[in-house]
Amino acid sequence: MSYNWCHGPNCHTIQTQSRVRGSGDNKVLRTIKIGLSNNYRTNYPEYYMWQYFCNNNCLFDYIRLHLASIIAIAPRREALETPIKVVKEKDTNWRGDPYTRTRITTVDNA
Ligand SMILES: [Zn+2]
Repeated sequence: MSYNWCHGPNCHTIQTQSRVRGSGDNKVLRTIKIGLSNNYRTNYPEYYMWQYFCNNNCLFDYIRLHLASIIAIAPRREALETPIKVVKEKDTNWRGDPYTRTRITTVDNA
């Protein structure tokens, strides 16, 4: 089975039983090993990060440490925009009182 070591920079310092390795007076806290046998980790892009991080803390520690480098990969120099329509509609709330609902819908310009 293939695996990755968690990329969290502090993973090996977190005091959990699952990280303890060694015997006697030679014990250590070791980085979590992440098995790659689960298909959901490899088949779905939204889970790719869990091939490299054992949990949210390790993911965010990594992002905090390497943020400048990560941003340099794909910097945003201009604002992005999504065309929308804003529609105001008269409606009544659960008590029957009138109010104006503002609804935002996207516009497909393709
Ligand atoms: Zn970790």
